Amino acid sequence: MRVTIVALLAAVVAAPLLAAPMPQPVQPEATTFRIGSVDVVALRDNEFLIPNDGKTFGVDVGVPAVAAVLAAAGAPTDTVRVGVDALLVRLPGRVVLLDTGFGPGPGGQLIASLAAAGVSPAQVTDVLITHSHGDHVGGLVTVDGSPAFPNAHVRMSAAEWTFLQGNAGAAKLVAAITPQVATFAPGAEVVPGIRAHAVAGHTPGHVSYELTSGRARLLDIGDTAHSTIVSLGKPDWIMGFDSDPAVGKASRRAELSRLAASHEMIFAPHFPYPGVGTVAAQGDGFVWVPAATAK
Ligand SMILES: [Zn+2]
Repeated sequence: MRVTIVALLAAVVAAPLLAAPMPQPVQPEATTFRIGSVDVVALRDNEFLIPNDGKTFGVDVGVPAVAAVLAAAGAPTDTVRVGVDALLVRLPGRVVLLDTGFGPGPGGQLIASLAAAGVSPAQVTDVLITHSHGDHVGGLVTVDGSPAFPNAHVRMSAAEWTFLQGNAGAAKLVAAITPQVATFAPGAEVVPGIRAHAVAGHTPGHVSYELTSGRARLLDIGDTAHSTIVSLGKPDWIMGFDSDPAVGKASRRAELSRLAASHEMIFAPHFPYPGVGTVAAQGDGFVWVPAATAK
Protein backbone atom coordinates (compact mmCIF):
# COMPACT_ATOMS: atom_id res chain seq x y z
CA MET A 1 0.00 0.00 0.00
CA ARG A 2 2.76 2.35 0.95
CA VAL A 3 4.60 1.75 -2.32
CA THR A 4 1.39 2.34 -4.26
CA ILE A 5 0.78 5.64 -2.54
CA VAL A 6 4.37 6.78 -3.06
CA ALA A 7 4.22 5.84 -6.74
CA LEU A 8 0.97 7.72 -7.09
CA LEU A 9 2.44 10.78 -5.44
CA ALA A 10 5.43 10.70 -7.75
CA ALA A 11 3.30 10.35 -10.84
CA VAL A 12 0.77 13.06 -10.27
CA VAL A 13 1.55 16.69 -10.96
CA ALA A 14 -0.59 17.68 -7.99
CA ALA A 15 1.88 16.02 -5.63
CA PRO A 16 2.08 18.83 -3.06
CA LEU A 17 -1.49 18.64 -1.96
CA LEU A 18 -2.14 14.94 -2.02
CA ALA A 19 -2.18 14.24 1.70
CA ALA A 20 -5.91 13.66 1.24
CA PRO A 21 -6.58 17.38 0.84
CA MET A 22 -10.17 18.47 1.01
CA PRO A 23 -11.09 21.29 -1.42
CA GLN A 24 -13.31 23.96 0.07
CA PRO A 25 -15.56 25.89 -2.33
CA VAL A 26 -14.60 29.55 -2.62
CA GLN A 27 -16.09 32.51 -4.44
CA PRO A 28 -14.07 34.38 -7.08
CA GLU A 29 -12.26 37.35 -5.57
CA ALA A 30 -9.84 40.01 -6.80
CA THR A 31 -8.28 42.38 -4.26
CA THR A 32 -6.03 45.22 -5.40
CA PHE A 33 -2.97 46.58 -3.58
CA ARG A 34 -0.72 49.41 -4.67
CA ILE A 35 3.04 48.80 -4.68
CA GLY A 36 4.76 52.05 -5.63
CA SER A 37 3.11 52.97 -8.92
CA VAL A 38 2.06 49.40 -9.73
CA ASP A 39 -1.31 47.76 -9.05
CA VAL A 40 -1.13 44.13 -7.96
CA VAL A 41 -4.25 42.02 -7.56
CA ALA A 42 -4.57 38.94 -5.36
CA LEU A 43 -6.69 36.39 -7.23
CA ARG A 44 -8.51 33.70 -5.35
CA ASP A 45 -8.43 30.19 -6.83
CA ASN A 46 -9.17 27.62 -4.16
CA GLU A 47 -8.83 26.59 -0.54
CA PHE A 48 -7.89 23.26 1.02
CA LEU A 49 -7.96 21.53 4.35
CA ILE A 50 -4.86 19.42 4.83
CA PRO A 51 -5.19 16.70 7.47
CA ASN A 52 -3.01 17.02 10.56
CA ASP A 53 -1.80 13.45 10.12
CA GLY A 54 1.95 13.81 10.55
CA LYS A 55 2.62 13.61 6.80
CA THR A 56 2.65 17.29 5.84
CA PHE A 57 3.01 19.73 8.73
CA GLY A 58 5.43 19.00 11.58
CA VAL A 59 6.60 15.69 10.13
CA ASP A 60 9.41 15.53 12.69
CA VAL A 61 7.35 16.50 15.75
CA GLY A 62 4.11 14.56 15.30
CA VAL A 63 0.39 15.18 15.37
CA PRO A 64 -0.05 16.26 19.04
CA ALA A 65 2.61 18.98 18.77
CA VAL A 66 1.02 20.39 15.61
CA ALA A 67 -2.42 20.19 17.25
CA ALA A 68 -1.13 22.18 20.23
CA VAL A 69 0.11 24.99 17.98
CA LEU A 70 -3.18 25.04 16.06
CA ALA A 71 -5.19 25.07 19.31
CA ALA A 72 -3.12 27.94 20.69
CA ALA A 73 -4.10 29.93 17.59
CA GLY A 74 -7.77 29.11 18.07
CA ALA A 75 -7.85 26.94 14.93
CA PRO A 76 -9.26 23.43 14.44
CA THR A 77 -6.63 20.83 15.38
CA ASP A 78 -7.46 18.04 12.91
CA THR A 79 -6.75 19.97 9.71
CA VAL A 80 -4.66 22.89 8.48
CA ARG A 81 -6.45 25.35 6.19
CA VAL A 82 -4.44 26.73 3.26
CA GLY A 83 -5.47 29.07 0.50
CA VAL A 84 -4.46 28.59 -3.13
CA ASP A 85 -4.12 32.01 -4.75
CA ALA A 86 -2.28 33.76 -7.57
CA LEU A 87 -1.11 37.33 -8.14
CA LEU A 88 -1.79 39.65 -11.06
CA VAL A 89 0.72 42.45 -11.68
CA ARG A 90 -0.19 45.27 -14.04
CA LEU A 91 3.00 46.65 -15.57
CA PRO A 92 3.29 49.14 -18.41
CA GLY A 93 2.48 47.19 -21.57
CA ARG A 94 2.26 43.89 -19.71
CA VAL A 95 -0.28 41.84 -17.80
CA VAL A 96 1.71 39.48 -15.61
CA LEU A 97 0.35 36.50 -13.67
CA LEU A 98 2.40 34.90 -10.89
CA ASP A 99 1.36 31.23 -10.66
CA THR A 100 -1.94 29.83 -11.88
CA GLY A 101 -3.55 27.94 -9.01
CA PHE A 102 -4.79 24.39 -9.21
CA GLY A 103 -6.78 24.89 -12.40
CA PRO A 104 -10.42 24.27 -13.20
CA GLY A 105 -10.45 20.60 -12.10
CA PRO A 106 -11.00 20.93 -8.34
CA GLY A 107 -13.31 23.92 -8.61
CA GLY A 108 -10.58 26.51 -9.18
CA GLN A 109 -11.84 30.08 -9.49
CA LEU A 110 -8.74 31.70 -10.99
CA ILE A 111 -10.27 32.57 -14.37
CA ALA A 112 -13.40 33.98 -12.71
CA SER A 113 -11.23 35.97 -10.29
CA LEU A 114 -9.19 37.24 -13.23
CA ALA A 115 -12.45 38.34 -14.90
CA ALA A 116 -13.38 40.16 -11.68
CA ALA A 117 -10.12 42.07 -12.13
CA GLY A 118 -11.21 42.96 -15.66
CA VAL A 119 -8.68 40.72 -17.40
CA SER A 120 -9.34 37.98 -19.95
CA PRO A 121 -6.93 35.04 -20.26
CA ALA A 122 -5.93 36.19 -23.76
CA GLN A 123 -4.72 39.52 -22.33
CA VAL A 124 -2.12 37.90 -20.07
CA THR A 125 1.31 38.54 -21.57
CA ASP A 126 3.54 36.72 -19.07
CA VAL A 127 2.99 33.89 -16.59
CA LEU A 128 5.76 33.58 -14.00
CA ILE A 129 5.86 30.23 -12.20
CA THR A 130 7.39 29.89 -8.71
CA HIS A 131 7.58 26.10 -9.01
CA SER A 132 5.89 23.25 -10.82
CA HIS A 133 3.64 21.68 -8.19
CA GLY A 134 0.07 21.23 -9.36
CA ASP A 135 -1.40 24.00 -7.22
CA HIS A 136 0.81 26.50 -9.09
CA VAL A 137 0.88 25.17 -12.67
CA GLY A 138 -2.46 23.37 -12.90
CA GLY A 139 -4.14 26.51 -14.20
CA LEU A 140 -1.79 26.79 -17.17
CA VAL A 141 -4.24 24.61 -19.12
CA THR A 142 -8.00 24.64 -19.53
CA VAL A 143 -10.24 21.76 -18.60
CA ASP A 144 -9.72 20.30 -22.10
CA GLY A 145 -5.94 20.54 -21.79
CA SER A 146 -5.26 23.47 -24.11
CA PRO A 147 -3.19 26.49 -23.02
CA ALA A 148 -5.24 28.69 -20.69
CA PHE A 149 -3.20 31.82 -21.51
CA PRO A 150 -2.58 31.41 -25.24
CA ASN A 151 -0.75 34.69 -25.80
CA ALA A 152 1.54 34.52 -22.75
CA HIS A 153 5.15 33.68 -22.33
CA VAL A 154 5.45 31.10 -19.52
CA ARG A 155 8.56 31.67 -17.47
CA MET A 156 10.18 29.40 -14.89
CA SER A 157 13.71 28.64 -13.79
CA ALA A 158 15.66 26.25 -16.00
CA ALA A 159 16.00 23.77 -13.12
CA GLU A 160 12.24 23.80 -12.52
CA TRP A 161 11.44 23.24 -16.20
CA THR A 162 13.79 20.26 -16.23
CA PHE A 163 12.07 18.97 -13.07
CA LEU A 164 8.60 19.38 -14.60
CA GLN A 165 9.64 17.72 -17.86
CA GLY A 166 10.79 14.70 -15.83
CA ASN A 167 7.39 14.33 -14.16
CA ALA A 168 5.63 11.56 -16.10
CA GLY A 169 2.28 12.59 -14.64
CA ALA A 170 2.67 16.03 -16.17
CA ALA A 171 3.38 14.89 -19.75
CA LYS A 172 0.18 16.37 -21.20
CA LEU A 173 0.72 19.67 -19.43
CA VAL A 174 4.34 19.82 -20.59
CA ALA A 175 3.32 19.10 -24.20
CA ALA A 176 0.64 21.81 -24.10
CA ILE A 177 2.85 24.58 -22.73
CA THR A 178 6.22 23.76 -24.33
CA PRO A 179 5.83 26.32 -27.17
CA GLN A 180 5.21 29.04 -24.57
CA VAL A 181 7.99 28.24 -22.10
CA ALA A 182 11.16 30.28 -21.74
CA THR A 183 13.51 29.62 -18.84
CA PHE A 184 15.83 31.81 -16.79
CA ALA A 185 18.54 31.51 -14.17
CA PRO A 186 17.57 32.71 -10.66
CA GLY A 187 18.79 36.26 -10.11
CA ALA A 188 17.46 37.35 -13.48
CA GLU A 189 15.04 40.22 -14.01
CA VAL A 190 12.36 38.12 -15.68
CA VAL A 191 10.21 41.02 -16.82
CA PRO A 192 11.06 44.69 -16.22
CA GLY A 193 10.53 45.31 -12.49
CA ILE A 194 10.25 41.67 -11.39
CA ARG A 195 13.34 39.70 -10.40
CA ALA A 196 13.52 35.98 -9.52
CA HIS A 197 15.43 34.73 -6.48
CA ALA A 198 16.27 31.09 -5.72
CA VAL A 199 14.68 29.74 -2.53
CA ALA A 200 16.12 26.25 -2.17
CA GLY A 201 14.53 23.13 -0.70
CA HIS A 202 10.91 23.08 -1.83
CA THR A 203 11.54 21.90 -5.40
CA PRO A 204 14.78 21.82 -7.45
CA GLY A 205 14.11 25.20 -9.11
CA HIS A 206 11.75 26.97 -6.70
CA VAL A 207 12.00 30.78 -6.84
CA SER A 208 10.43 33.83 -5.25
CA TYR A 209 9.59 36.89 -7.35
CA GLU A 210 10.34 40.42 -6.21
CA LEU A 211 8.44 43.35 -7.69
CA THR A 212 10.18 46.72 -7.32
CA SER A 213 8.50 50.06 -8.06
CA GLY A 214 10.50 53.07 -6.94
CA ARG A 215 11.31 52.37 -3.29
CA ALA A 216 8.37 49.98 -2.83
CA ARG A 217 8.74 46.22 -2.99
CA LEU A 218 6.58 43.13 -2.86
CA LEU A 219 7.99 39.60 -2.64
CA ASP A 220 5.91 36.63 -3.82
CA ILE A 221 7.42 33.97 -1.56
CA GLY A 222 5.93 30.99 -3.42
CA ASP A 223 5.96 27.97 -1.12
CA THR A 224 8.62 29.22 1.30
CA ALA A 225 5.84 28.95 3.92
CA HIS A 226 2.36 27.37 3.71
CA SER A 227 0.48 28.10 6.95
CA THR A 228 0.48 31.37 8.87
CA ILE A 229 0.02 29.33 12.05
CA VAL A 230 2.39 26.38 11.64
CA SER A 231 4.97 27.53 9.08
CA LEU A 232 5.46 30.95 10.68
CA GLY A 233 5.12 29.85 14.31
CA LYS A 234 7.38 26.83 13.90
CA PRO A 235 9.55 27.49 10.84
CA ASP A 236 12.07 24.81 11.79
CA TRP A 237 9.55 21.97 11.67
CA ILE A 238 9.88 19.61 8.71
CA MET A 239 7.42 20.26 5.86
CA GLY A 240 6.37 17.15 3.98
CA PHE A 241 5.98 18.98 0.67
CA ASP A 242 9.65 20.08 0.64
CA SER A 243 11.72 17.90 -1.68
CA ASP A 244 14.78 18.54 0.50
CA PRO A 245 13.28 19.07 3.98
CA ALA A 246 16.53 20.09 5.71
CA VAL A 247 17.32 22.70 3.08
CA GLY A 248 13.67 23.75 3.01
CA LYS A 249 13.55 24.54 6.72
CA ALA A 250 16.86 26.40 6.54
CA SER A 251 15.53 28.50 3.65
CA ARG A 252 12.28 29.17 5.51
CA ARG A 253 14.09 30.36 8.64
CA ALA A 254 16.52 32.52 6.64
CA GLU A 255 13.86 34.11 4.43
CA LEU A 256 11.45 34.81 7.29
CA SER A 257 14.24 36.31 9.41
CA ARG A 258 15.24 38.58 6.57
CA LEU A 259 11.63 39.60 5.83
CA ALA A 260 10.86 40.31 9.51
CA ALA A 261 13.92 42.56 9.70
CA SER A 262 13.16 44.42 6.46
CA HIS A 263 9.35 44.65 6.96
CA GLU A 264 9.09 43.94 3.24
CA MET A 265 5.56 43.37 1.96
CA ILE A 266 4.98 39.82 0.78
CA PHE A 267 2.39 37.81 -1.11
CA ALA A 268 2.07 34.19 0.00
CA PRO A 269 -0.09 32.00 -2.28
CA HIS A 270 -1.13 29.69 0.59
CA PHE A 271 -1.79 32.22 3.35
CA PRO A 272 -5.37 33.30 4.11
CA TYR A 273 -6.75 35.25 1.15
CA PRO A 274 -5.63 37.79 -0.01
CA GLY A 275 -2.24 36.70 1.37
CA VAL A 276 -0.63 40.15 1.32
CA GLY A 277 1.11 41.48 4.42
CA THR A 278 4.31 41.35 6.42
CA VAL A 279 5.86 38.95 8.92
CA ALA A 280 7.05 39.97 12.38
CA ALA A 281 9.38 38.11 14.73
CA GLN A 282 7.73 36.70 17.85
CA GLY A 283 9.55 34.43 20.28
CA ASP A 284 11.45 31.82 18.31
CA GLY A 285 9.14 32.17 15.33
CA PHE A 286 7.09 34.67 13.39
CA VAL A 287 3.53 36.00 13.13
CA TRP A 288 1.49 37.18 10.16
CA VAL A 289 0.48 40.84 9.85
CA PRO A 290 -2.10 41.20 7.05
CA ALA A 291 -1.78 44.35 4.97
CA ALA A 292 -4.31 47.04 5.86
CA THR A 293 -3.94 48.86 2.56
CA ALA A 294 -6.39 46.88 0.44
CA LYS A 295 -8.58 49.12 -1.66
ZN1 LIG B 1 1.93 25.20 -3.21
